[in-house]
Amino acid sequence: MTYIELKVAPRREERLGTCIEFGGTVGEVHRQFCGGCLKNRSRSFSQGTICQLLPATAILTSLQDSVVIVHGAVGCGGAVHSQGASVRLGQFNSGDKNPKGALWLSTNLSESDVVSGGEEKLKRAIIEADKRYRPSAIIVLSTCVPGIIGDDIDGAADALKEQVAATILPIHCEGFKTKIMATAYDAIFHSFLRNMVDGNDETEFAVYNNEAAVTAEKIRRSRLVNLLNVSSMTGPDQKELTRLLNKLGLEVNMLPCDAHPDAFRLAPFAALSIGVCPTHDDYFMSYLHEKFGVPFVGGQMPIGIENTSLWLRQIAAKLGLEDAAERIIQSETEELHRALQPLLPNLKSKTAMLSAGEIRTLATAVLLQELGMEILAVRPYHYDEFGGTEISKLEKVNPKIRINVATAQPFEAVNLIYRTKPDIYIGHNSDNIWAAKCGVSILPIYGTNSIYSGYAGAYDVARRIERHLKNPVFNEHLAKNVRQPYKESWYAEDPFKYIKGVE
Ligand code: SF4
Repeated sequence: MTYIELKVAPRREERLGTCIEFGGTVGEVHRQFCGGCLKNRSRSFSQGTICQLLPATAILTSLQDSVVIVHGAVGCGGAVHSQGASVRLGQFNSGDKNPKGALWLSTNLSESDVVSGGEEKLKRAIIEADKRYRPSAIIVLSTCVPGIIGDDIDGAADALKEQVAATILPIHCEGFKTKIMATAYDAIFHSFLRNMVDGNDETEFAVYNNEAAVTAEKIRRSRLVNLLNVSSMTGPDQKELTRLLNKLGLEVNMLPCDAHPDAFRLAPFAALSIGVCPTHDDYFMSYLHEKFGVPFVGGQMPIGIENTSLWLRQIAAKLGLEDAAERIIQSETEELHRALQPLLPNLKSKTAMLSAGEIRTLATAVLLQELGMEILAVRPYHYDEFGGTEISKLEKVNPKIRINVATAQPFEAVNLIYRTKPDIYIGHNSDNIWAAKCGVSILPIYGTNSIYSGYAGAYDVARRIERHLKNPVFNEHLAKNVRQPYKESWYAEDPFKYIKGVE
C-alpha cells in the first residue's frame, strides 16, 4: 500500500470501487460486482445521505486524553452533540467512573475567514487546546470550507510541532469529497499511521531497566493482540470478545474507540491484529502488516454463531492455538444452543429486513438465518469487495433476497417495507423510524448498551427479537395514527426506479 506517502487517504470510490446505489437481488449484486460492472452507478433522485464527518467525530471524540478541533464553518460538526451520550457511556465502560463526554472545539470559520483563510485561526485553536487541556493528542478535522479555500492543515500542524506538547493529527475529512462515509475510517487511520505509529521502541523498553523485565515484556508482547473496534463494538461487545480472546490466553490492545493514543504507539509490537469488520479495519491492519510485519485476520464480523467460531479459528491458526480454540468453541456453542432452544420455535420462519453498514447488515442477516428466520431484504449503506463473503452465505439460502444498497434514502426503504411486509426491521434508529411508522416491529442493529457480538451476542439478539415479535401492537397503532410523507402512487412504483443503470 503506497497511500501512506500521500497527505490524503484515497476515496473509497477509487480504492475499492465502493458503490452506494444498487437495487436488485443478492445473487445479482454478487455477480455484477465480481464482473466489475457495479461501479459508478448513481441516483437521479436522492433523499438524504451521511457526511463522512459524522463517523469521524463519533470515533475521535471517544479517544482518551485527546481534543478534537473541527476546523470548519459555524455549525459544521454540530452533530457531535447527538453523540455525547454514547461517548460518555464508552468512557464509563472503559473504566472512567466520572466520564466527561466529548472534548471538542470548533474554529467557527466566518465569512471573512473564507475570504482571508482560516490557517491562523486554526493555529490559535491548537495552541489554546494544548495550553488549556494538556492532551496527548490534538486531532484537527478538516471539513468542507477549509477544503474549498485551500487551508494547509498539514502545514499548520508542522509549524506548531515544536511549540505544543501534544501530537497533532491532521485529518482530511471534507464531506464533499466522497459519497462513501466509510472513507472516514481510512482518513483517521491514515493520519494516525503517518503521525503516531512509528514503531520506535526505544522509549518503550527504556522503562524496563533490567534484562528480566525486558524478557517479561517480550513474552507479554508475544501474546498481545490488537483488537480493532472501529464503531463496530458496543461496550458489552468489547467485553465479550475480550473474554473469548482471554480464554485463548491473549492480552488485548483495543483501538481506536475509547483508547488512549498510546494504544496506537503499542500497535506495531503486537503479535497479531484482529479485525471485527473488514469495512472498518483493512486500511490500518494492511499497513501495520506491510510496514511492521504484524499479521492480521478479519475477513468477517464475529456476529453470528458460525462467524464467531470462524473468527476464533482464524485467530488460533495464526498463533498455533488451534486445540485450545476448538475446546472453547465446543463448550461455548453447546451452552449457546441449550440457551436458544426455548426461543427458536417462536423465531422459526419469521421474516426480517435489515439495514446498516455493509458488513453489519449482512452478518446480522446471516445470524437470523441461523436462528431459522427468513430474510426478505437487506439494505447495506454501501457495497464493495468485502461484502462478498456474507452475500454468498445469504445467496446460498435464497438468491432472490432483495438488496437495496443505499445510505439513507428512506423513500426506497418505505416502498420496500410496504412490498415485503417483514415481521421485524432491524436497523439503526434513523432507518427504524420509517419501519415503525409502517407498523413493523423494530430492533436497533446497534445500541451502545446492548450486545451483538460473539456467542453471548447471538443469544441476546435472538432473545430481543423474540420479545419484540411477541407484542407488535405499539407500532401497529402507530401506523394507524401517522401519515407517511409519500403519495400512494409511489408504492406502486419500482422502489429502484431512480437508480440509474438498473436493467
Ligand atoms: S458536508 Fe461539509 S459542511 Fe456539511 S457537515 Fe459535512 S464537512 Fe461539514
